[in-house]
This record gives sequence, C-alpha cells and structure tokens, in this order.
Amino acid sequence: MSSFCIHVLNVGHGDSIILELPDNNWGLVDCFKTNTEIEPPALTFLKARNVRKLKFVCLTHPHKDHFHGMLEILKHFTSDGRQIEEFWDFGPTIDLIRVFLDRCGSEKEFSELQDLYEFITQRVLSKKIEWVEAKARVKCLELSDIKISSFAPLGGDTMRYIRSWARDTTIDENLLSVVLVITCGETNIVLGGDTKSWEDILKLWRKECEITNRKKSAFHFVKVSHHGSRHGNHKGLWDLFTVKDQSVAVISTGCRYESPHPETVKSIISRDVKLYSTNFRDFRKPVSGDHMDEYVQKGLISQSLLDALEVSTHPVEDFEIIAPYHGDCSITIEDNCRCSVLTETCRTPIS
Ligand SMILES: [Zn+2]
Repeated sequence: MSSFCIHVLNVGHGDSIILELPDNNWGLVDCFKTNTEIEPPALTFLKARNVRKLKFVCLTHPHKDHFHGMLEILKHFTSDGRQIEEFWDFGPTIDLIRVFLDRCGSEKEFSELQDLYEFITQRVLSKKIEWVEAKARVKCLELSDIKISSFAPLGGDTMRYIRSWARDTTIDENLLSVVLVITCGETNIVLGGDTKSWEDILKLWRKECEITNRKKSAFHFVKVSHHGSRHGNHKGLWDLFTVKDQSVAVISTGCRYESPHPETVKSIISRDVKLYSTNFRDFRKPVSGDHMDEYVQKGLISQSLLDALEVSTHPVEDFEIIAPYHGDCSITIEDNCRCSVLTETCRTPIS
C-alpha cells in the first residue's frame, strides 16, 4: 500500500510543486519566488523538513514563473554534503538551449536561466547530477508502485517551437512544457505544467492505458495547466478523465492576469471536482447574510471569478465547497483512487 503527498505552494502567479514520495524521497517540479521574498518558498519548505537530498528537480519549460529561484535551490542542494540526483527538463538539444539563450540574452530574466543552465551543464559533465530529457514517452522514475512518466512535450510541439523560432514568428515556450503523469497503484495524477496540447496528451495516455491494460484512465488529481487560463481548460480532460466527487484540481494562481479564466473554473466545478487555487487575496468563508458584491468591492474576489461561480445560484453554505482559497495545497494521494486535501496553510497572499 503506497501513498505520497503533493504540495502545491502558493508562490503568487507561478508554479512550485513539491513531491513527498515514500522513504524520504523528494522531488521538485518548477520553482518561483516573488522579488520581495528572500528565498524561494520551496527552499524554505524543504529546509523546514530537514531535506538533504532531492531525487529530482524538474524544469517544465523556460518561463520565469517556473524557474525564478531554482538556481538557489540547486546551489543549496549541491553544497554541504547535500545532493540532487537528477535534473529533468523539456529535452532540447544543447544547440536549442544555446540558440534560445542567445535569443533571450538581452532580457534580464533570461540571464538567470543562462546561469541555471551553466550550473547544470557543469554538474552534468562532472557526473554529479544526471540530466534526464523528460520529453513525451520517457519513463522518469519508479519507486515501488509509484511511477512518473512524461507525456509532453511531444515531438511535434518541439518541432513547431523550433520552426517558429527559425521563422522569427511568435514564439511560445509553453509548447515545450513537460507534463508529468504519476500513477500510484490505481490512482492517476497529472501535473499539466503550462501545456496547451491536451488533445495529443490524452490520446497518448489512452494508448498507454490500453497497452498496459490499465483498468482506470480517470485522473484523480490534476494540476491545471497554464494557471487556469483558457488553455488549461480542455473538455476532454474534464469530461472523460475526472471522477465525480473524488477528484481534486489545483490552479496555481488567482486574481492575476485575469487567471484563472472563468470558463476554466466553470468547467471544473460543474463536474463536481473539488477546485483549489493557491493565491486568492484574503479570501474568507462567507457567512450567512454576506453580499458577494461587497467581496468584489473589497477586492477579496474578482468579478470575473464571481461571475464564473454564479454565486447567486448557490446557497452561501455551499460556497466553501466551490470556492478556491489561497495558500499552499497539500494533497495526499493513495493507491486506491483516493486523494484528499490534507492541509490548507494560508500564507500572506502575494499580489
Ligand atoms: Zn509558461
């Protein structure tokens, strides 16, 4: 009987997901910190638990809200006898990284990415860290009955990215985003990164379930992709893959860049999937007699989200079930299709 925990940290608008696997095995998927924070919340989290070894660090794609602060974590865990076993990324060739960095060289945030890759390259060449190209179809990790595999980026998307860069058209790094599927016994989890390619990913997943004779293809936990934007909303994902009343979805933002998108929120909650969002401002449970309009005026909830929730059609006592809250979300995953939200640690919301 296996179980493990996923901690989706509130880092404002960005991703920082910690996997707490059995036998003191830890993994980090993406990292972000705001400029006002001294260290990345993920580092604070891991230090508080006295973690000395990371099984892996995964960078889903080269966007700042997924890598800012990651270098600090890499440096911490490669000093004083601490250790990182593997670095997973979207699997570009070294040439692609070089070109990518050249293209972005003038932009400040990319000098951090350049430093990060410099650091990784040195460690990989001296065999201190193993580099895993976590593109689609790569089996990344197996720990008893917990398996982590990549379902994106697919070859076509990487090619589209390279072509758009060669033609100097609009370039979208989200095409490169790693999507990890974790299975724990009968339970299926998907961490969507910032992908927009759900159609192809789900096709691949169905095929995989067929080949491996997997009884259930439903996802019990979904890290909604792209911070709940329109792209994170795929009808097939919600229609076919989530299990009513048993599934949990987490969006890693709130009230910023107009995300999550009301349509995404609506799609999720209409399937009776429990939805959490990490960064809503000063959200508190409404009490009987509260007028939601006042919440909007005080900036406690955005008008667009309020519209999406259609609060007027829900009695106030139902609000807790449908309302996202702000804070770190820790979810316990069990091998029998159960996942439950463990703790709801509210931290100061990040604007
Ligand atoms: Zn992105």
